[in-house]
Amino acid sequence: MSHSDPNCIFCKIVAGQIPSRKVHEDDELLVFHDIQPWAPVHLLIIPKRHIVSMAEVTEAEAGLLGRMMTLGPRLMKELGVSNGFRHVINTGHDGGQEVFHLHLHVMGGPRPWAKG
Ligand code: ADP
Repeated sequence: MSHSDPNCIFCKIVAGQIPSRKVHEDDELLVFHDIQPWAPVHLLIIPKRHIVSMAEVTEAEAGLLGRMMTLGPRLMKELGVSNGFRHVINTGHDGGQEVFHLHLHVMGGPRPWAKG
């Protein structure tokens, strides 16, 4: 598993080669606003390291995935989302994944904005 893919748009965001509206950065993770939000607040939480999708993760990534999951609620609270939110990960072509760098969508804010 490579550290970075020069053709990956999210790796370019990590490297600062493409701008993003960042809300959090640490050694392992980067969080920024989705450029085409489905909800009033729509964050993407990504590992800085190039992991293609959930189909590639192993037990070795369990801690990283746990950090991604627990960061969302904290950031939503900081951004004033107080009435619930949704976590989504799309995996592979049939899973609706369009950017092949693992990312967790965290969406919240006043409804209606999504089905279900
Ligand atoms: P889908 O488009 O079906 O949600 P993904 O789960 O792969 O597929 O999501 C990719 C997400 O990345 C999309 O919500 C898209 O709006 C977002 N996106 C693509 N390019 C950028 C960018 N440069 N900055 C922020 N978000 C981006």
